[in-house]
Amino acid sequence: MELKSNQVRLMMLQVADAIIVAEPMLSQADRDLGDGDHGLGMKRGMEAVKAQLEPMEPTSVEQVFVTTGTAMMTSMGGASGALFGTVYRAGGKALAGREFFDAEGLALLLEAALEGVMKRGGAKPGDKTMIDALAPAAAKARESVGLSLTAALTAVAAAAESGKEASKAMIAQFGRAKTLGEACLGFPDAGACSVVIMLSTMRDFATCGN
Ligand code: ADP
Ligand code: MG
Repeated sequence: MELKSNQVRLMMLQVADAIIVAEPMLSQADRDLGDGDHGLGMKRGMEAVKAQLEPMEPTSVEQVFVTTGTAMMTSMGGASGALFGTVYRAGGKALAGREFFDAEGLALLLEAALEGVMKRGGAKPGDKTMIDALAPAAAKARESVGLSLTAALTAVAAAAESGKEASKAMIAQFGRAKTLGEACLGFPDAGACSVVIMLSTMRDFATCGN
C-alpha cells in the first residue's frame, strides 16, 4: 500500500487535528519541564497547516510535506517552530520526484528530518529532545523499507513511543529543561510526545483512513 499526494494531504490534516486535540497534554508535558508553551505553539502551527492544506490540490508528496513545514516555521516562531518546520521541510525535500508515499519514502523522510534537526539545533540522541523519538523512528523506518506502509508505520510509531519513554530517564541538555538537572527525571520530553502523536496518527490513517 502506498499513498498518493492527495491521500498524504488528508493524512497530514488528520495529524494536524490530532496535535490540536492533544494541546492540553502537550502543554502539561512542557509545563513539567519547560515553560509550558509547547502545546499552544504546536496548536498554532497546526492551524496554519490546516489553512494551507485544506484548499490545496497537491501535485506531489514533496509539496504536501514542505508546505506543512513552511506553515509551522512561519506561524509558530521560537526554537520549536524552526525545528518542527525543518522536520517537514527537510523531510519533504528528500521525497522530490517520488510519485507515492511508501515505506521507503517514510525512511527517506525521517532520515532527512533527523539530519536536518540535528544540524539546525545541535542536539544529539540522549539530550532529552524530540530527537530521542525521531532517531529510533528513523532507524526503524530504514529497517522496514521492505514492508507495507501500514506495517512500517506501525513499527516506526512503536519505536518513537519507546524513545519517548526512554527520554524520561534523560537529563535535558537543551531548552529551559536544561536548568532543572535531575528534576527532569521521570518526565518525557514534550517535543518527543509530539513526534509520537504525529507518527501514530499517520499509522492510524494508513490503517483505516483510506
Ligand atoms: P521552546 O523551547 O521555545 O519553549 P517548545 O516548548 O515549543 O519551544 O518546544 C520545546 C521542545 O523543542 C522540546 O521539548 C524539544 O523536544 C524541542 N527542542 C528544543 N531544543 C531542541 C534542539 N536543540 N534540538 C532538537 N529539539 C529541540
Ligand atoms: Mg516551551
